[in-house]
Amino acid sequence: MRSSLEDLLEYLVVKVLAGKESVVKALIDYFVYAESPSNIAVKYDLSKNQVRGYAQRIIEKTGSAAKAKVILKYATPIILKIKPIVRKTNGALVKCLLCGEELPIQVIEDHIRKKHASVIDDYLYSIIDLLKKNIVADNLIT
Ligand SMILES: [Zn+2]
Repeated sequence: MRSSLEDLLEYLVVKVLAGKESVVKALIDYFVYAESPSNIAVKYDLSKNQVRGYAQRIIEKTGSAAKAKVILKYATPIILKIKPIVRKTNGALVKCLLCGEELPIQVIEDHIRKKHASVIDDYLYSIIDLLKKNIVADNLIT
């Protein structure tokens, strides 16, 4: 079973792989830089409610905003280097650059989780390594 840390990191990695890095940037601004949901919403073209919804999910996954802040802060350098593995084709379809499948944007995150789990895991473990080097992970991996 995955820990809550792995669960959170997987969520973030999949978002970036799916080309939704603005969600991750919004979460970093919210938790690490304590920006207001309305500022963040404007910056990333989201609604205030979306920003609150994403933040709520992160708190549910980690158990507290303080924990989310530490994890996001240390994971950021790797997470923001991840390149999306999808490209928009026409209209509502996106193409997975790893296997060439074209899919509706709504299912792309599921596709990445099911078909490209090893890519997620590689990033996951690099991030966990980095967290460990920063000595914060000891209290976080529970
Ligand atoms: Zn694919």
